[in-house]
Amino acid sequence: MDFASQGWLGRLPRVLSTRQCPLCSSIRFVAAESSWPDGLLRLLMLRPVRCVNCWRRYYWFGTANKAAE
Ligand SMILES: [Zn+2]
Repeated sequence: MDFASQGWLGRLPRVLSTRQCPLCSSIRFVAAESSWPDGLLRLLMLRPVRCVNCWRRYYWFGTANKAAE
């Protein structure tokens, strides 16, 4: 199911429960640039990352595992 084709749902941040891109199965991520919801989401222990393969933006829980920078 592609949420990007469903209007506003496509703009919701996607939180990954695994460290794997659901779209392209890549396990390589980099830290994403900050955007407006990040300050809020950081309070919820979410950090922005970007898949290096398809360049989609996701959020991870926690701060223990650093994305490659
Ligand atoms: Zn990907």
